[in-house]
Amino acid sequence: MFPIKVENLSYAYGARQALVDVTFSISQGEVFGFLGPNGSGKTTLFKILSTLIPVDQAAVNILGHELGNGVQRVRQYLGVVFQRPSLDLKLTVTENLRHQGHLYGLQGKPLKQRIQEALDQFELTDRAHEGVETLSGGLQRRAELAKATLHHPKVLLLDEPSTGLDPGARRSLRAYLNGLRNTTVVLTTHILEDAEACDRVAILNAGELVAIGTPDELKDQVSGDIVIVDSPEPEQLAPKINQRFGYATASIEGLLRIECHNGHEFVRDVVAAFPTEIQSVRLGKPTLEDVFIKLTGRRFEENGSSQDSVGLESSRTETH
Ligand code: ADP
Repeated sequence: MFPIKVENLSYAYGARQALVDVTFSISQGEVFGFLGPNGSGKTTLFKILSTLIPVDQAAVNILGHELGNGVQRVRQYLGVVFQRPSLDLKLTVTENLRHQGHLYGLQGKPLKQRIQEALDQFELTDRAHEGVETLSGGLQRRAELAKATLHHPKVLLLDEPSTGLDPGARRSLRAYLNGLRNTTVVLTTHILEDAEACDRVAILNAGELVAIGTPDELKDQVSGDIVIVDSPEPEQLAPKINQRFGYATASIEGLLRIECHNGHEFVRDVVAAFPTEIQSVRLGKPTLEDVFIKLTGRRFEENGSSQDSVGLESSRTETH
């Protein structure tokens, strides 16, 4: 049985369609990521899965319950981390956890044990009695995780968990999430590195699920290497490259993007063939953004995603 099964889910806010016929299943213990630019429908999906938006259809099944009629039974098995912090900043970490425990009917010794376990798991023991407002962003996010998992949820849902964290804190957050092996973890992100760290990823674009698979399976959809050519006259150069080398070119924000085998040879040959028409050439292995580009013909940033996202250039080496 899949802990989460969604079939042909559509959702609209009035006339605005936010999700279009979305179908996927998530397996027990998976770390599953929804990757998409702003406006792609991630938050809507997150809100539906976390039962914040009611759906009156049998399209969503969580832990064997159709959300339409089993919402109450499902909630106790869910842990939810929202984008906006839910911790009481004026209380200590332990006080926050104690309140959370009470909400789930935990008391006395069992609650004490759960709190200690959560503090250990997220390496917060030495901060247990510090006010949450004095903690760094990364530590606060770990305290959020401790709070959300205190009642041992079967499914942990996180909306953009690493937004606003520095790269070190993001890495450590990913390690904690990957360590939660008995829990099914579902997160939304527009950050490529977060998606890379998931067991499986679903790519959303304009409310549609355009691809699903492990990061490697998705990247296998893009063959070989990616070469980005910066030219003052890309429209004139594109057909010449096609004619000479047989490669199709895609023009993304004025840059020519070419999928090819033996990219290092192509870089050398294309510069030799058109020395005056090329300003710079970059070579890299496909990333999930390349998969997104291939499937949608657009870059992430075009859609206004934040500067948190990793640019196309990040993994590339520059060759002139
Ligand atoms: P994401 O989380 O990927 O940025 P959202 O799920 O927030 O995407 O949004 C998907 C689409 O639904 C967008 O076009 C957005 O403008 C629209 N939308 C989101 N929330 C509302 C709302 N409360 N009312 C109307 N439209 C909304």
